[in-house]
Amino acid sequence: MCSILPVFTDTENPVIHTTKPKEKQDTKRSLLTEGNDISRRARVSNAGKPGCEEAGKLGPNGYRGRMNAQPGSYDGNTVAGGPAQTRLTKQLEITKLTVGPLGNNCYLLRCRRTGGTLLIDAAAEPDRILEMTGGRIDRILTTHGHHDHWGALAAIKQATGAETLAHPADAEMIGVPTDRLVDGGDRVPVGEVELEAVHLVGHSPGSLALIHRDVDGSTHVFSGDALFPDGVGNTWGDPNAFRSLLDGVTSQIFDRLPDGAWVYPGHGADTTLGVERPALSTWRARGW
Ligand SMILES: [Zn+2]
Ligand SMILES: [Zn+2]
Repeated sequence: MCSILPVFTDTENPVIHTTKPKEKQDTKRSLLTEGNDISRRARVSNAGKPGCEEAGKLGPNGYRGRMNAQPGSYDGNTVAGGPAQTRLTKQLEITKLTVGPLGNNCYLLRCRRTGGTLLIDAAAEPDRILEMTGGRIDRILTTHGHHDHWGALAAIKQATGAETLAHPADAEMIGVPTDRLVDGGDRVPVGEVELEAVHLVGHSPGSLALIHRDVDGSTHVFSGDALFPDGVGNTWGDPNAFRSLLDGVTSQIFDRLPDGAWVYPGHGADTTLGVERPALSTWRARGW
């Protein structure tokens, strides 16, 4: 088993990086513990990446000729304390930064035409987030109410005056008032671009994912703690919560979006729907 994620250059030919996982699948579970907010899959994603047998789907179906990245390339493998990574779509500049003791990913989306911005999860380390954004943040969407996803929200709200957004079912868990409630199906603006909000229940009652369909044909899913490489988010052994989350992720994300859709999770490495799709039945059978 090997792992693979495409790295995009400024040409039309994606470069495929192949690395060996540090852990085998059967040893990954021993890394997992219950009761912590960080998802099991976030830990798994640090231990290994999707299998190489599925990777052949990425190049042809993925972003060939449809996405450009800045020099240095984007592979989504940011690390806590390390530099941010940025990629460009036709409409958006997407920057990923990993912060805090749980390795939370913050994403800054900037409309390339208007400069309007959306920060997804003001998780921790407000100074580093503000540095990444250049100080301008129009809106901050908190994907869900777990503290590791909004630890820097008060500081960044104060520094920028950004509007805060969250789902009503999680808003009271967040220690900063929510200015604008977002439900599934709502549109979240980034300048003149609109992302679609998806409501997912299971990891928390009011988890949100955001879908961006770019005019260049690429699709982007900001999944919070609902979907990671190798599984859905932690549901702490609750079979009803697990079923709800997997049903939601299946019907609202996998059933609606193409294999090339790029997934940006709340912790750890990125993935694509094409890499994860073959494992959906395995996830359901194992119950986590
Ligand atoms: Zn969480
Ligand atoms: Zn988390």
